Order: sequence, then structure tokens, then C-alpha cells
Amino acid sequence: MAILIGLENYFLKRLEKLKADIDFFVFDRIDDYILVLDNEKNVVFENLKVKRELESDEGEKKCFKVIYNSVLSCRERGLECPLDEIKKKNLTKYYSLHNVKINGIKKSYLVLIYKLLEGELFVEMFIDIENLKESLFKDFISAQRVLENIPKGIFLETDDFFYCNSRFREIFNYRGEASHPLEETLNSDFNGSIPEYYIIKLIKEIKQKNEPVVDKKIKLSDDKYLSIVYIPISLNSKRANLWIFDDITNQQKKEEKLKESEELFRTLAETSAAGIFLQKGKLLYVNPALCEITEYSKEELLNMNALELIHPDYKGMVREIIQRRLKGDRTKLNYEIKLVTKSGKEKWVQIASSAVKYKGSYVGIGTVIDITDRKEYEEKLKKLATYDSLTGLYNRYMIEEFLTKEIEKSKRHNIPLSVIMCDIDNFKSINDNYGHIEGDKVLKELSNTMKSNIRKSDAIGRWGGEEFIIVAPYTDKYGALKLADKLRRIIEEKKINGKNVTISCGVAEFRYNEKMKDLIKRVDEALYTAKRKGKNRVEISL
Ligand code: GH3
Ligand code: MG
Ligand code: MG
Repeated sequence: MAILIGLENYFLKRLEKLKADIDFFVFDRIDDYILVLDNEKNVVFENLKVKRELESDEGEKKCFKVIYNSVLSCRERGLECPLDEIKKKNLTKYYSLHNVKINGIKKSYLVLIYKLLEGELFVEMFIDIENLKESLFKDFISAQRVLENIPKGIFLETDDFFYCNSRFREIFNYRGEASHPLEETLNSDFNGSIPEYYIIKLIKEIKQKNEPVVDKKIKLSDDKYLSIVYIPISLNSKRANLWIFDDITNQQKKEEKLKESEELFRTLAETSAAGIFLQKGKLLYVNPALCEITEYSKEELLNMNALELIHPDYKGMVREIIQRRLKGDRTKLNYEIKLVTKSGKEKWVQIASSAVKYKGSYVGIGTVIDITDRKEYEEKLKKLATYDSLTGLYNRYMIEEFLTKEIEKSKRHNIPLSVIMCDIDNFKSINDNYGHIEGDKVLKELSNTMKSNIRKSDAIGRWGGEEFIIVAPYTDKYGALKLADKLRRIIEEKKINGKNVTISCGVAEFRYNEKMKDLIKRVDEALYTAKRKGKNRVEISL
């Protein structure tokens, strides 16, 4: 403890001086482990005792590695990290109690930390409580000064000696002298409401077991939380007890609130019909609905990069969004993309995404809704609006759209454009002789015959019952006449659904500045002429 007092004074004095002159080698003279750390827990200086007694290998030098030879940080091992605390609470000094193994021996250490240079550096001391107790009684007056400063309730007892610090009095609202064992002290003179029968019972039990207790948390009936540390020590071969109490009500309530909101999120997410994800490139959280959509298990997804789920056509776009999210872009986006499921199925999904701060950095968050059925329905509607359901040719609406575009092109680039209108000769009699179903088959087969005998750049549509129109870009009326006559001949020579069928055609070439309806009228008139002149022939509108 003398060491402790010496250090405390030393630090206070040195704090000012250090700003101008950093000379840590003075720590080499001190017989406790001492480290100087930067903000990230990297060791920038270790004193002679550390160098001499603790194995130090090359590579990462974090405090927990150097002192405890652990790859896990103290926090990951369930110990309080004084550096985290001093930063979080913005204090200049802090004390934590660690019950750990150093060099294979389990001991209790008081870990003291001091902030230097406005938090650029920290000095951390590991004080062996076994050593501490020796000096404690040699120099109790000085020791008391340090114990008074510890921001935790301390109660020290032997058979004939009791001490409590001011934080202890504060926590328990205790105003009397610490002249009794702890359980009696709590039982007698306290004015507050914290001590209850079962704390006293617990204290008796802990004492009987005579084993260190680290950070036992208890909840009291008036909604308060207390943490208890117990360290049995032997003092000049006499038994002594060191108790450390902390009122952790605020901390605990914060944690509970956090737990509550976490639980709320979890319940919402786990029961949501929409897929929910958190991603940092890698998927950090996925809910059951997302597993169902993607066909992967939760474990599989959590080992995957989000991009692995995305259809190749959309990877570029999604990669860009992910990068924006990681930079903290919270812009809400809503987009429709395709995923590829585990079995290789392609699924359409609608994603609504944004960014949130999660464990200290920005990550993407979003919902995923399977819209495959809707997309398929939309495709179907589009088809219905585009193609004639019996023949598979363009319907009248689409052929008009096509013709409108081609008229524009023809006008702009002064290129020829022609239309052919065909009508089956005496189709009524086919229906009459063979029935409507056979008539339909003729329509189908005739459509296929015509379609396979026109150019790719031509378009053919069903104009009416058994009337067809062919739009032939880059073709003048003579070219169109040739095409129409070729079709007429092919059909005449071929059996269509086992029947002899002929067609008559009209041909017209687009005239500059002519309206579409006038072009149609002319081609219709040419067709009428062909019918009038005896059918199975082609007439041209000159
Ligand atoms: P024309 O040589 O003068 O053209 O004589 P036509 O018998 O072909 O007479 P028109 O073109 O006026 O009659 C068309 C007939 O085609 C009427 C109708 O019964 C039949 N038809 C129209 N649409 C369909 C269809 O979708 N399926 C079947 N099976 N028949 C149809
Ligand atoms: Mg006809
Ligand atoms: Mg007709």
C-alpha cells in the first residue's frame, strides 16, 4: 500500500510534468506491473517488472496479451476494462478488480488506471492484493487515503478491526462507525433502505465458503442493483475479509432497457413475414423469413457475403449500394432485383434499405419481400397486351405501336416502308365444313407459315379474325409485292392443317406525311380489289 500511496502522489505530481517531459523509466523502480497504453489498448511502455517476469512475444501488444497472456480482451473474459470505463465515464482515474491468473497463479489484482495528456495515454498498474494487504496495516493512515478515493464501497474486516470508506457509507446510507463485522454493520446503524435480510444472509454464506467472489450482482426489492466482490485475505496469518460494493442500479437499468428494445427488435424481426438483414458486406443478422426466401439456413447466411445472393445482372448495382451504406449513407432506397436461391432458383425481390450504426460502425439494414408471383403476373399481363393468344403473332395494339415507330423512322431517315394486308379466302366455308376448332388450327398453322417466311426486321400481327398485317421496313411497294406474292404462293402450294387454303393480299407503301390510318385505308382497299378481282392474288396501291 505504501507503494500505492507513493504512486498516487507520484502520478499527481507527474501528471503536469508529463505533458512536457515523458519519462516512463521511473516506473522501472516500482515493484508492480506497470504499462503505458494508448487509446486502443496498445502497450507503448512496459516497466522492468513486466519485462522480467512476463513472457513477451513479438506481434500485437495489447495490455491483456502482455499481462494476462490472453488473446481475448478483459471484456470478452467477463472482466471490467478500466480503460473502457475511464473513457466512457470521462474520469481521470479508475480502479477495477480482476481475479485472474498471471504466470499460472490465480490472484486478485486491483487494476488502477490514470489518464495522461488528455487521454492520449494511460498508465495502468496491476497491484497484487496479497501484497497490498501487507502494507495495508503497516501504513493504514496512508492506505485509508487511497481507499477513500476508490469509487466503490470498501469494507475491510478482521476479527478485531473494521473499516469502511465513504463510498460504502453513501451506497448504504450508513452513518455509524465501522466497528462491527459487515453483517452487523448492515444490520444496525444503517438509515437507508438498501440492506435487506437476504444480503446479510448472502454475506454470511460467502464468508463461510471463504472463496473469492467476483462481481456477484443482486437485485433488491426496491429496484436497486448491487454488485458484490469478496476477497478473503490472510493478514499476518490472521484471516481478513475485503468487501467491495457497487451500486450498479443505473448501469443495470440501462442494460435492461437495451435488452428490452433488443428483445422488441428480435421479436419483430423473428416474426416478420418480410426478410430482414444487417450487412457489412458480410451478413451480420438474418431473420427466419430471409432464410425461407433464400433457402439457406441462418448459419449458412451468416457465413456469406450479401453479394453471393444477388443475381449477376444486379451485382454491380448492389455492390455500389453496400459501399455507400458502409460509408454511412442513410438514404432510404427501394429497388427490385433478382436473387439466386440455394437451389439456383431466380427470385424477384423488393428491397427497402438504409444504414444504421451497429457496434460502432455503419452497416446496411433492410427488408426483403418476395415479389416473384407479382413479377410473373406482370410478365403475363405484358404478354397478353403484346401477343395474340391464338396465333402467337403480335396483337393489333402492338402492330400499331410498331407501325407508328417505323413511320417515324421512315420519315426521319427517308427510307421506304410498306405494309401488306392478307385475308384468308372463303374462310367461312372452312369453318362451315370442318368446324371452328379446325378453323382455329388453320389460323395457327397459317400464322406460323407466314411468320417463318418473313425477315426478322419485319413484323406480323393479327389484325382481325382471319386478317393479318405485315409491316416491312426498308421495303418499297415492289419489294412488298414480291413478298406478298411469295407468301400467297407458299400457302397455295402447301396443305395448311391438311387443307387447301388461299389468301388475298393488298400492298401499300408509306407516303411521306401520310397518316397511319390513311395508309391502312389504302392497303385495305388494295385487298378489297384483290378479292373483287377473283381472290388468291395480290393487288398494289399505286
Ligand atoms: P372472303 O374470301 O371474302 O374473305 O370470304 P370469307 O369467308 O373469308 O369472309 P370474311 O373474311 O368476311 O369472313 C371471316 C370469317 O372468319 C368469319 C368468321 O366466322 C371467321 N373467323 C373469324 N375469326 C375466327 C377465329 O378466330 N377462328 C375461326 N375458326 N374462325 C374465325
Ligand atoms: Mg376472308
Ligand atoms: Mg376477313
